[in-house]
Amino acid sequence: MHARKLVSIVVPFFNEGENVKTFHTSISSVLEKLSDFEFEIVCIDDGSRDNTLEHLVSIAAVDSRYKVLELSRNYGKEAALTAGIDHARGDAVIPIDADLQDPPELIGPMLAEWVKGYEVVLARRVDRSSDSYLKRKTAELFYKFHNQLSHVKIPENVGDFRLMDRQVVEAVKLLPEQQRFMKGIFAWVGYKTTTLDYVRNARTAGDSKFSGWKLWNFALEGITSFSSAPLKLWTYIGGIGATLSLIYAAYIVLRTLIHGVDLPGYASILVAVLFVGSLQLMSIGMLGEYVGRTYIESKKRPIYLIRNTYSTKEH
Ligand code: UDP
Ligand code: MG
Repeated sequence: MHARKLVSIVVPFFNEGENVKTFHTSISSVLEKLSDFEFEIVCIDDGSRDNTLEHLVSIAAVDSRYKVLELSRNYGKEAALTAGIDHARGDAVIPIDADLQDPPELIGPMLAEWVKGYEVVLARRVDRSSDSYLKRKTAELFYKFHNQLSHVKIPENVGDFRLMDRQVVEAVKLLPEQQRFMKGIFAWVGYKTTTLDYVRNARTAGDSKFSGWKLWNFALEGITSFSSAPLKLWTYIGGIGATLSLIYAAYIVLRTLIHGVDLPGYASILVAVLFVGSLQLMSIGMLGEYVGRTYIESKKRPIYLIRNTYSTKEH
């Protein structure tokens, strides 16, 4: 008889005080039925300003499966996940949201696929009706746009909730970038993958931590981290614009030669200046996105800092 495999559940928490207890009970009842595996639950407190940490620490004090990482401030979900994955010791790692929007019931079926030999088991949301119409539409647009531009295709409607074999986790750790667009990183590493479908629940309590603006920046990060197409696009747009304006200039010269000088066309000049000016502004902005990212990467700062860890077991 060989030892049971260790599975790490990685959970980022940011101001989820109301959800900690429900999370603990529902995870416990799910894991109870999976006695073929051993579990550790790595909770990351991503600089919460409510009582999330207290709740987590009190659970870790009585439940030896729990390990709590307290980050020094709020670093964002991607960094929190990275911290958790770095500290997970399991033969498989499953990141899951604290608000139970990713159903823990899926852990069993995921493990079954893993046992069959799959190295990545994705969980795909088949029904996103718990998200607002706007969020669904913009998410759909994002995936379309991203996958058109980038060589690394992100599977649609798949979040961070998935199972990864130890080998995949080690591969993910090899990607040192600061701007961690996890969906892209996970997709980049590849490996033998299968997909399970599920219906996304509504949040148990509290509000989503991602506003429209945050999501927009998230999308930008996704696209600029995995594709330089937006950078190249401007060469072509600029080329077309320049050609068109040359043709227009030739037309004006010809017209002046044939008809003589007529009233100077303020309007057309203004339009041309504004048009070209705005094109330049846009392309500078696009360049800025990349230059800014290069700047941040070049600093090689750590992705997160841990203030404290809590667990009853010594690791
Ligand atoms: N989260 C985090 N740090 C943040 C924002 C969110 O650790 O800065 C966690 C949050 O506690 C939750 C998960 O990331 O466990 C997903 O967040 P949320 O439910 O707000 O996102 P949504 O489901 O709306 O996409
Ligand atoms: Mg959520």
